[in-house]
Amino acid sequence: MKIYADNAATTRMSRTAIDAMIPYMESVYGNPSSLYSIGQEAKEALDQARDRVAAVINADPKEILFTSGGSEADNQALRSAAAIGARKGKKHIISSAFEHHAILHTLNRLENEGFEITLLPVHEDGLIVPAELEAAIREDTCLVTIMTANNEIGTIQPIKEIGAICKKHGVIFHTDAVQAVGHLPIDVKEMQIDMLSASAHKFHGPKGVGFLYARKGIALTNLIEGGAQEKGKRAGTENVPGIMSMAAALKEAADHMEENTEHQKALRDRLIRGLLEIPHSALNGDALKRLPGNANFCFEGIEGESLLLLLDDKGISASSGSACTSGSLDPSHVLLAIGRVHDVAHGSLRLSLGEDITEEEVDYIIKSVKEVVEYLRSFSPVWRDLMAGKTPFIL
Ligand SMILES: *Cc1c(COP(=O)(O)O)cnc(C)c1O
Repeated sequence: MKIYADNAATTRMSRTAIDAMIPYMESVYGNPSSLYSIGQEAKEALDQARDRVAAVINADPKEILFTSGGSEADNQALRSAAAIGARKGKKHIISSAFEHHAILHTLNRLENEGFEITLLPVHEDGLIVPAELEAAIREDTCLVTIMTANNEIGTIQPIKEIGAICKKHGVIFHTDAVQAVGHLPIDVKEMQIDMLSASAHKFHGPKGVGFLYARKGIALTNLIEGGAQEKGKRAGTENVPGIMSMAAALKEAADHMEENTEHQKALRDRLIRGLLEIPHSALNGDALKRLPGNANFCFEGIEGESLLLLLDDKGISASSGSACTSGSLDPSHVLLAIGRVHDVAHGSLRLSLGEDITEEEVDYIIKSVKEVVEYLRSFSPVWRDLMAGKTPFIL
């Protein structure tokens, strides 16, 4: 059996998304800035894509800027808010300890440039506490950036409450919604979101394309200088096939969101029940306030990398954390942020299910993980010490 259970890292492109690209490579390949008809046709298509994308999050099409993906959108959002803040002498930014590296590394840069960063604690349930956010806001706070849903443990933050707090204090609110867009209902007006990042390859669109929503009135800072594309805020000939494909993928995801969510949640919960039968195991993050397809576990006495390789032998593609950090032996900053100790954080497993996951596949995953964990523990010195009572169990 071949099971792809790493949809948080990337997703397979849907047929709709692939079909939507082809005309813009084969026939309508003009440059949208050109004045002749195949250029203008491409431009009209882009306008249509912008309308579609905006509609899904209840934004105005003028508020959508196409980018090369989530990382670029995150970088531009943070740079823009920082520039707005600096002009008013406000150089304090609030974020959380378990953001994506596109956020955390940009914040490091800004810190080196003289900004002060407060990282809110993320509690054991994988959530921040809105009252702690409010208490952290100061006179000189220019930006709050908190992700909508975490890419490793899938927990969903109280975005509407955070939006209301930021609005009350006149602070710009950005959210990295890369894991959420196409999977959870997002309404930027109702949630009072000022800026939001999204990426097509996380909702069955192509890699290398995404968008930044920035509320009207927020002045964006360019990361890329050049031509006047994207209202002069992001130079470079538009990735027309990618953008068309992203818009089609997003519309498809939005149209089927309710049924997809119901199906994924039921199977996610079956998976969680099955794997928590393993002794000395734990689910990471709140059991309910999590993405419909995400299940993330720690198993005591084993090492995540070996688990992944053995699961791969059984045809299961999974992850120990984010694709960006796996390969390094450092435990996930997300798991450390929610209070898992190093040894336990090393034995982690992220399974992110797709919309087409079946009950049979989930049962195969449960059986396989149980076998592999038992096998790895059978010769693990750490497990032997735990069983002998030399070291205490944590989970
Ligand atoms: C994948 C991801 C990103 C990066 O998006 P890219 O399009 O791959 O650059 C940023 N934030 C989160 C939460 C993600 O899951």
